[in-house]
Amino acid sequence: MAELLNEFSWSKSRDETFRKCPRQYYFHYYGSWGGWESDCDPRVRRAYVLKQLVTRAMWAGAKVHDCIKRALRNLRRSIEPMPEPEAIATTLAIMRKDYLSSRRGDYRKNPKTCGFLEHEYGLPVADAEWKETADHVVRCLESFYRSQVFGRIRTLPTERWLDVEEFSSFPLDGVKVHVVLDFSYRDERDGVVIYDWKTGRADEKRNEVQLACYSFYATKQWGVAPERVTTVEFNLATGAEHPYHLGATGLASIRQYIQSSIRDMKLLLADPATNLAVEERFAFTENEAACQHCCFRAICPRWE
Ligand code: SF4
Repeated sequence: MAELLNEFSWSKSRDETFRKCPRQYYFHYYGSWGGWESDCDPRVRRAYVLKQLVTRAMWAGAKVHDCIKRALRNLRRSIEPMPEPEAIATTLAIMRKDYLSSRRGDYRKNPKTCGFLEHEYGLPVADAEWKETADHVVRCLESFYRSQVFGRIRTLPTERWLDVEEFSSFPLDGVKVHVVLDFSYRDERDGVVIYDWKTGRADEKRNEVQLACYSFYATKQWGVAPERVTTVEFNLATGAEHPYHLGATGLASIRQYIQSSIRDMKLLLADPATNLAVEERFAFTENEAACQHCCFRAICPRWE
């Protein structure tokens, strides 16, 4: 089998990790590369296992997204989605399995199974907090199933549907920019509407860079003018919808933002042409509090 190439690419989450801590960024995108091979360096393997760990909040968000994706993909294929109670019960059953598997430590052997940061680092989490996480997932799914948005999607002809949680990308100056749109469609006036499901706290700040990236992708992928792209953040915790318009000025700003982020990332590489990184060139964050929730603490020299 041909060797997998660690190709340089850009995404909003990559940018966030880079801003949070350059060393964490190194572990995530370089230090764990190849950790799936049985004969790899033990530290690389360890980094690979740690990289897959999730916090309760990330896990809850992923479970809500998975359930909604299943429902929408079924609708797209003219299969009636599971009714709300069944969809919630199925999601809770998957969550119970994930929890038990992580508590047993299965993820150390099979890193693609669920592993919690809380379990790996022995962080105390009361049963009530686990229950609150499950309750939050239930509230988000109830909110989605009962929403006007879902009602509207159900009546929307599938010929007008575009991406539903597909891993997509577009090129920018020769670099692949990755995006995953939760749901998108063409409206009656030939514009594009993009939905982003938010499962975080009700007061979570709007992620405008993320929304701008989605709009940028729409202009490239479907050849639509920026003024005709609407991105809607649907907050599943509150049921509120927040529309966002990029416009031509916004398009220029997001292009610039991505270009300067790529530039900063490449400046730390030992050889940008081959995407070669050397660990010592990536500094530790100055914000020690970030280390408390960092999955790589166990191998980070700052804490050795
Ligand atoms: S433990 Fe702290 S310094 Fe080390 S990689 Fe994580 S966030 Fe960065």
